[in-house]
Amino acid sequence: MKHSLVIFLTAAILGTIFYIRANPQLVRNAAQEIVEKAKEVVSETPPSPRTDLLLPDMKIIPPKDIYIAHPSSKIKTLRFNTIFVNQGQGPLEIIGHHDLEQNKTFASQYIKKIDGSGEYRDIGSFVYHPDHSHWHVDNYVQYQIWSIKNKNEKNGIVATTGKMSFCIWDEHTYDLNLPEAAKSRFYTSACSRNTQGMSVGWGDTYLARVEGQVIDITNVPDGQYILWFEINPERRILESNYDNNADWLKIEIKGNKLTVL
Ligand SMILES: [Zn+2]
Repeated sequence: MKHSLVIFLTAAILGTIFYIRANPQLVRNAAQEIVEKAKEVVSETPPSPRTDLLLPDMKIIPPKDIYIAHPSSKIKTLRFNTIFVNQGQGPLEIIGHHDLEQNKTFASQYIKKIDGSGEYRDIGSFVYHPDHSHWHVDNYVQYQIWSIKNKNEKNGIVATTGKMSFCIWDEHTYDLNLPEAAKSRFYTSACSRNTQGMSVGWGDTYLARVEGQVIDITNVPDGQYILWFEINPERRILESNYDNNADWLKIEIKGNKLTVL
């Protein structure tokens, strides 16, 4: 009995090897799968175990508009657009609390609960953005350029935006077929320090030419890099899922030419 099992397994393995060798597409698919696996972002933050909350799920989408610009003859920059959406079960809502003594506006996430009530969670502060002349939520998004090792692994940061602040609102629809999607715009573009947010099924795009959508790459030598981008990088905002908070593109900088690989 054991003997026949060995023969069967040997035949099965040899048959599989022959099948794969005869089908280069399978090998290509397997290689593609490895690349896709490598691109998957492994988050160290587990999602909230709470089941009584209607949490947002913020997702950042790879920039579609990305180019090199020269604001002066001595400075070289990478400009990019930022797109993020809410595909969760509840809205992202951020409420400001102005503290006169400290002259600071603290920010809380208001989380709706299934039973109709809600709760607050401190997430940081609202900051006034002098170039935009309105209020932003701090520490919201960051972009980093990494050197590469072993083909697709991050090695070291060579340039970064640091943590960027944003005014969050329902700028455009993303997917109104999501179960909890808001059929019409709820959070408007006031960019105030009272309330900002993003409804389920909605998104926001910051164009590449907007002030702040830039990384200084003056001192970054020509070569291939990983452009890494992440929303809610400190995980202060409670979400149902953090696996889609970061993503990356492989880019090549060659003089003034940028190629997304
Ligand atoms: Zn702004």
